[in-house]
Amino acid sequence: MTFLNIGITDILDIFIVAFLMYQVYMLIKGTTAMKIFAGIALFYLIWLLVRALNMQLISTILGQVMGVGVIALLIVFQQEIRKFFMYISTQYLARVDLGWKSFLKNFKKSETQILNFSRLSKAVAVMSESKTGALIVVKKEADLFSIVETGLRMNAVLTQLLIEAIFQKNSPLHDGAVVIKDKVIEASKCILPLSEKENLPPEFGLRHRAAMGLSERSDAIILVVSEETGSVRMFHKGRYRTIKDSEDLVDNLRAKMTA
Ligand code: ATP
Ligand code: MG
Repeated sequence: MTFLNIGITDILDIFIVAFLMYQVYMLIKGTTAMKIFAGIALFYLIWLLVRALNMQLISTILGQVMGVGVIALLIVFQQEIRKFFMYISTQYLARVDLGWKSFLKNFKKSETQILNFSRLSKAVAVMSESKTGALIVVKKEADLFSIVETGLRMNAVLTQLLIEAIFQKNSPLHDGAVVIKDKVIEASKCILPLSEKENLPPEFGLRHRAAMGLSERSDAIILVVSEETGSVRMFHKGRYRTIKDSEDLVDNLRAKMTA
């Protein structure tokens, strides 16, 4: 009766597999990859069926395809695999040092953060009122070098007026995203990767898709002010919410920064 011996490692094993499958599912949910995945699953079922029915010829042919299956999967899901590893590294590697040291650091940081958030949220409120389109990336752990290098380096001190000035419709800097780390505007005019989700609201144009795209790939918080409606949305980890007012924005920023 050895097969009923379930050890602690077996349970751990099952949990890890379940966790990985869940992460993969969250990553491809609602994208074309999901449909391709369903197609492959169907293909696999057919192969099992023809094998069970002993249909020699077709099972040989399908078997050949299954033989190169892993390599084919790597090619077909190249994008998703890259996304997955980028996600893993920004989500988990960055947190390895989570301990009293970073706790202290966060604690000291929080005072200045509140000041920066209030500058940011005042600028967002003004832009929302005047329906000035804006796209703002607030960095957490991930360094987002590949994003910053698509834009224009600024390294300027974050102030309410500077944010407003950047996103002025006539400003040469208004196109693209601004990247903020703590109290510094690192860059403007940055290009963000677009989300491939298919079930996004119809009013989401490229700006919103870009915000969603980066939130799926990193731990950054992304703010969007809609040029069409003036509404403000916050994107984080592939989800978004609509922001009511400045206070709501500061509250949500603080919650997401420490999440
Ligand atoms: P809005 O509600 O403000 O109209 P939207 O989601 O409908 O937003 P669009 O009107 O398609 O978005 O976006 C226009 C602006 O979004 C562009 O002028 C550009 O500044 C910005 N934008 C579009 N794509 C990207 C991208 N990939 N990275 C950064 N910024 C982008
Ligand atoms: Mg639009």
